[in-house]
Amino acid sequence: MEIKVSKFGGSSLADAGQFSKVKEILLSDPARHYVVPSAPGKRMPRDKKITDMLYECHRLARSGEDFDELFETIAGRYRGIAQELSLDTPLEDRLLEVREGIRTSAQPDYAASRGEYLNGILLADYLGWDFVDAADGILFDEEGRLDQNATQDALSKLLRAHPYAVVPGFYGRMPDGTVHTFSRGGSDISGAIVARAVHADLYENWTDVSGCLMADPRIVRNPRPIRHVTYRELRELSYMGASVLHEDAIFPVRMAGIPTNIRNTNAPDEPGTLISHDAEDMDNDYVITGIAGHKDFAIVAVEKAMMNAELGFGRRVLQAVEENGISFEHLPTGIDTMCVVCHERMLDGKRDQLVHRIYELTDPDSVEIHSGLALIATVGRGMVRSKGTSAKLFNALQRAGINVRMIDQGSSELNIIVGVDNLDFENAVRAIYRAFVTDADRERA
Ligand code: ASP
Repeated sequence: MEIKVSKFGGSSLADAGQFSKVKEILLSDPARHYVVPSAPGKRMPRDKKITDMLYECHRLARSGEDFDELFETIAGRYRGIAQELSLDTPLEDRLLEVREGIRTSAQPDYAASRGEYLNGILLADYLGWDFVDAADGILFDEEGRLDQNATQDALSKLLRAHPYAVVPGFYGRMPDGTVHTFSRGGSDISGAIVARAVHADLYENWTDVSGCLMADPRIVRNPRPIRHVTYRELRELSYMGASVLHEDAIFPVRMAGIPTNIRNTNAPDEPGTLISHDAEDMDNDYVITGIAGHKDFAIVAVEKAMMNAELGFGRRVLQAVEENGISFEHLPTGIDTMCVVCHERMLDGKRDQLVHRIYELTDPDSVEIHSGLALIATVGRGMVRSKGTSAKLFNALQRAGINVRMIDQGSSELNIIVGVDNLDFENAVRAIYRAFVTDADRERA
């Protein structure tokens, strides 16, 4: 039996109209057995997300202020959805219970989680499916970290008894019985956990965009969507700033070998982006899969003649970095130079002491810190097989008059990272996109 788990984001469930789209999607495929909803999101750009209002209610309650008016706004959103969909869900008792809970709970998690909880109750009623409280199956340890084994056991056992069910996203239960949430955007994680627990064939993540794009649309106009991407490529792209799924949502499904499909609730006929373990056999239209990057990195460049012959040189440089509480991102090395690339903010107030410590520990010829660096990752599993990828990339940057300050081609051959001046960042991304996508389209036409 094929099983799909479908998570719907806040904008997909923001009002009654969106609820009906979700119902149509779910009922159009009997393999869609489990649905994980977020709380209602924004209906228009200046609207408020329910989760944000719940946090605010809790803040007001903690400081002894009145939160009734704000709570009524929240309650009104749920009542409105129920009314428009002609549901006779006994919502009032639940709302009373939630209001009381917010008033008495010390932590904001309970309040925040109620957005998903109430939405789950409404959605289950609308679909005629069972409601399964995430607090009964998603379990955290004393430190608030997900207890993976206990969750896998509890949730798979629980869901076996509910062939079609709604499990609200974003929260679970602490060992002492209180509600605990993931970090913001955490319904993605809940969806992935449910998918793993029921050994799903596919984890669908429904949102308001038709999947991931090959570049940031704020930089490149109308970038093409990515059809297929591997979990490894996605990791490299999101590490470099592409925002797709919550980082921790990848882990449970990737581990279990379950592919993820990012889909658009408002354009359900579009295929979206399929993220899988192994997309070797999936053809991509382009040599590269995507481009991502961000600004404000710094390079600590340590130079010493014959450093290659000096046992422990690299370790001592990194010791100085570690002692200063700096975590680094990349380590490109050359002959007689070792570079430590880190986020610029990591060096705040520590530059002098870091340089001093490196001198003490390694007796180098020079240590220099270069700031204002933007890193751009060009990622693609197709790069291994295709000749001249680096040449194309560097030609594109040269033609755009961009000076490359750092190069790091990971041994995976999945990714070429270049460092350019912060000021050149946008132009560099556009130049790379043009070379690999626009020009490739033109050649094909
Ligand atoms: N509602 C929560 C948030 O706004 C969780 C989620 O939507 O994934 O962060």
